Amino acid sequence: MTETYKDHIAVVTGASRGIGAAISTRLAAAGLTVAVHYGRDEDAAASVVASIEATGGKAFPFQADLAVDTAAQDFWASFDKATAGAGVLDQPVQVLVNNAGVTLRGPIEEFSREDFLTQQAVNVNAPYFIVKESLSRIPDGGRIVNISSGVTRIAFPEIIGYALTKGAIEAFTLTLAKHLGPREITVNSVAPGVVDTDINAEWLRGNDEAQAGVAASSALGRVGQPDDIAGIVAFLASDEARWVTGQKIDATGGTNL
Ligand code: NAD
Repeated sequence: MTETYKDHIAVVTGASRGIGAAISTRLAAAGLTVAVHYGRDEDAAASVVASIEATGGKAFPFQADLAVDTAAQDFWASFDKATAGAGVLDQPVQVLVNNAGVTLRGPIEEFSREDFLTQQAVNVNAPYFIVKESLSRIPDGGRIVNISSGVTRIAFPEIIGYALTKGAIEAFTLTLAKHLGPREITVNSVAPGVVDTDINAEWLRGNDEAQAGVAASSALGRVGQPDDIAGIVAFLASDEARWVTGQKIDATGGTNL
């Protein structure tokens, strides 16, 4: 992919940490210029960019809050400004990875309307409208990868609102793949199981019992790491994956097989 996509951009949402940072690192190593989107943590985004540049890759950061009604317009306006600053204004968006997401907890009886709507805004509305506004930017043969979750296959009542958002992403992926097929743009989703990132810090980090429970539920006997997911996204983003579209790749390490 290095030569093919030398002057192409990969946009990764929520890329300042966790799975998004790992995806950015992989895509930069494959030769793409990575647009590292972040919501709040400018320093973390700058450090992802610096570590990519330290290994000879190309990247630049840009900011947009995805919880607001104008998220998609803000997102692309911020992206355009950043591409101009980075001197890559005219490069096509070969790859778009909708990775940003929040997991807000609570069983249906207790889950507030406010949390429901915030989660919906970040996990569903933002990717939908970001894609809608991107269709003239993505060239024929481009790639869209959406990050779903194992919770569409394994029921966790404690995060029912989150599961609903990821179900929506998978339906979006399937339908969009059919719509964009004539342009040879592939659209796929990747569904991680529990991955050791900040999203799970509260209940997983430093909790040996939780770690052991998660590891035991995986056929491969361990907790997932961000790079486990990033490698799959890099494959889907590559030319090698040109004949795969409309699919979900279960990336749960064989959880609850
Ligand atoms: P994370 O919390 O480290 O990363 C989430 C990213 O989304 C962060 O960079 C954050 O800034 C961004 N984000 C959240 N709200 C935002 C907002 N309002 N505006 C802009 N950006 C915002 O968690 P992660 O584990 O790296 O999650 C990445 C993706 O993987 C998410 O879609 C998540 O649902 C999915 N996922 C994670 C796991 C897991 O166990 N870690 C499992 C399945 C799916």
